[in-house]
Amino acid sequence: MQTPAPFEYERATSLAGAIAALHDGDGDARVIAGGHSLLPMMKLRLATPERLIDLGDLEDELSYIREEPGEIRIGALTRHVDLLRSQVLAEQFPVFRDAEEVIADPVVRNRGTIGGSLCQADPGEDLSAVCAALKASVVLRGPAGERVVGMDGFHLGPYVTVVGFDEILTEIRIAKRPHGGSAYEKVERRAGDFAIGAAAAALNISGGTIVAAGVALRALAPTTVEIKRAEELLRGSRPSEELFAQAGEIAAADCAPTADGRGPVDYKRHLAGVLTKRALRRAAARALQKEA
Ligand SMILES: Cc1cc2nc3c(=O)[nH]c(=O)nc-3n(C[C@H](O)[C@H](O)[C@H](O)COP(=O)(O)OP(=O)(O)OC[C@H]3O[C@@H](n4cnc5c(N)ncnc54)[C@H](O)[C@@H]3O)c2cc1C
Repeated sequence: MQTPAPFEYERATSLAGAIAALHDGDGDARVIAGGHSLLPMMKLRLATPERLIDLGDLEDELSYIREEPGEIRIGALTRHVDLLRSQVLAEQFPVFRDAEEVIADPVVRNRGTIGGSLCQADPGEDLSAVCAALKASVVLRGPAGERVVGMDGFHLGPYVTVVGFDEILTEIRIAKRPHGGSAYEKVERRAGDFAIGAAAAALNISGGTIVAAGVALRALAPTTVEIKRAEELLRGSRPSEELFAQAGEIAAADCAPTADGRGPVDYKRHLAGVLTKRALRRAAARALQKEA
């Protein structure tokens, strides 16, 4: 039997109250959103918070997908199922739907949140690569106010982010750019499992030339890895199979996988190359459709 260590439980009635409770907890309090990562860790006693602050009642405030003139804003408590079903995201950033279709199962997708996924920072989790390829930023709110952090500076390592002990991730922001296409490719051992390897790609194409590019890998390094050299190669080039193959070769070289039960290093590097090429191919096709 797995049982968590004793803890106090409180339901937050306001964001400010939740932040104050975290602050008072001085590192011994944790927020809980969907609970699909935190509770298993507590049962295994890998996490032993003394106080849990449940964000569940803040759903009205923190669960939304909003289309603003220049960007899409996603509230931290937005659940996987809402990301999967969102028409706005399917049109603007189809990489979300691609990823959500292969995240876990309906039970997890009905409870798990985007904020929880990003803050958990599991090396195999999918939405961090999606957000990194889209060059998203996240809003962190703490006792001193708000700060906005780019995804490229969000992860410090496996299971570690820049979110302070008394901060709450409230929103994800993604800039809208014209003629964009994006895609996600993942290989897993069985349906709904964490990735053996995954690649997210986002391209904007104008006049037949790639003007912006994002490539990010998941489960192929200790944390999300953005393939900057591939992004540089892509920017200013015309989309082609050869170009995407070259970008794939760079991804295979620049990732940093470790051997584990999901496979050896060589296999994972091979996956990085193949999945990057496939994701770029699909992202380009989607972008070109918009340009037409
Ligand atoms: C069987 C199973 C299969 C899964 N398969 C996949 C998969 O294939 N791909 C994948 O990506 N994920 C997978 N997951 C993980 C799942 O997507 C995450 O557990 C879930 O989305 C995390 O969100 P949550 O709301 O449940 O977070 P919680 O468990 O509530 O919280 C996780 C961590 O984030 C912190 N936190 C939560 N919200 C915030 C916030 N707003 N601000 C600051 N800190 C916060 C918590 O304190 C905790 O440390 C799987 C999970 C299970 C149980």
